[in-house]
Amino acid sequence: MRTRGPAASWSLEAMTDPILDLAGIGIGPFNLSLAAQLDGLPDMNARFFEQRPAFSWHPGMMLPGAELQTSCLKDLVTATNPTSPWSFMAYLVAHKRFYDFMNAEFDALPRQEFANYLAWAANGIESLRFGKPVRALDFSQGQFVLGFDDGEVAARNVCLGIGLVPDLPAFAMPLAGDTCFHASAATARLPLLNAGRVAVVGGGQSGAEVFLSLLSQVGTASEVSWISRRPNFEPLDATPFTNELFTPGYVTDFHGIGEDARNASLARQKLASDGASASTLKAIYQRLYALRHLGEGALNPTLMPGREVIQMERQRGEYRLVMRNGFDGGIEIVHADAVVLATGYGFRVPEFLAPLRDRIAFDRKGLFQVNPDFSLTWDGPRQNRIFA
Ligand SMILES: Cc1cc2nc3c(=O)[nH]c(=O)nc-3n(C[C@H](O)[C@H](O)[C@H](O)COP(=O)(O)OP(=O)(O)OC[C@H]3O[C@@H](n4cnc5c(N)ncnc54)[C@H](O)[C@@H]3O)c2cc1C
Repeated sequence: MRTRGPAASWSLEAMTDPILDLAGIGIGPFNLSLAAQLDGLPDMNARFFEQRPAFSWHPGMMLPGAELQTSCLKDLVTATNPTSPWSFMAYLVAHKRFYDFMNAEFDALPRQEFANYLAWAANGIESLRFGKPVRALDFSQGQFVLGFDDGEVAARNVCLGIGLVPDLPAFAMPLAGDTCFHASAATARLPLLNAGRVAVVGGGQSGAEVFLSLLSQVGTASEVSWISRRPNFEPLDATPFTNELFTPGYVTDFHGIGEDARNASLARQKLASDGASASTLKAIYQRLYALRHLGEGALNPTLMPGREVIQMERQRGEYRLVMRNGFDGGIEIVHADAVVLATGYGFRVPEFLAPLRDRIAFDRKGLFQVNPDFSLTWDGPRQNRIFA
């Protein structure tokens, strides 16, 4: 065990712990699934640490009517361990809603229900610790050392499950605030918007959900523009042969091809994971129909696919978005009182990894080099692995 600092700075738990076999950093669905799989394995001493005070799955995008984009069979455990107590079916039975769920015949599960399921599992799995931001990860004397505000924990292996971070385009960064924000803050900020003209930038699922929410809610908005650089508002491809991309067999083969071939494949497969659900697009279309033809409200919606926002500024309290039209190359302007940027999420090397950063291999895009067993390539001992 690494030499420890003054005893007073140690939590009791850290002082009494043996070295963990595995320390998980971050508790989102990824590490929660791992924790659920490991739960009950007698020979595995694993613990997972999350910075938030309690489990919460993308709370900033839990808009009314939001739906899961994948099958509920893709829960925490079922694909590999269907008898686990942490399956979605076990959740339904534990809450006495199996028959209600069956009879409801959801085409897509409400995201809130899946989030409730995840929170239920997180509440029951003993290896999870909340309110524990990891500040530093180092490797010393044959073990990883996780640094917390109140001490350190040692582990033979670690698993990074820290997710992605909201991506704001460079032109929007200086303007970010109460009336110009990333979609990841939509749940809290949309209801407070006191804006007549709202522009939603981004044609993926988040942009679609924010646009639909603005079309549906009783609020101050009188004009809502939905801007996407994609040539059309394109649906997620969740058809059978495309879903084959998410099977273990495909993933194994995918690892076997070179980096260039992988990147080319990913570019071709974009709509397999990054598109609006067909049901959300249909709901938007039907809402537009009601607004246009059934006299349901005075909202004026504008659909602007094929437009890339290239510049944005704020003048006299209003935003001016400059866009290039991908169809004819023309420049167009939209004025708005508020802008919601549904511009996706990206990978950042976390700050806590600074002590190990130079020992980890990255690919040309700055992403981790991941081995077939989901460990990272690094220059440390082979028996000590960093999974991600
Ligand atoms: C709105 C939305 C809806 C989605 N819906 C679907 C869907 O229906 N189906 C689907 O397959 N995918 C969906 N996705 C994509 C993906 O499955 C989710 O983003 C999923 O949450 C990713 O899980 P994760 O555990 O990797 O990351 P996250 O859920 O982002 O969790 C990472 C966790 O790590 C914590 N963390 C970060 N840094 C530290 C630190 N230093 N110390 C401790 N904790 C830390 C964070 O607080 C966070 O709780 C959706 C994504 C979004 C944004």
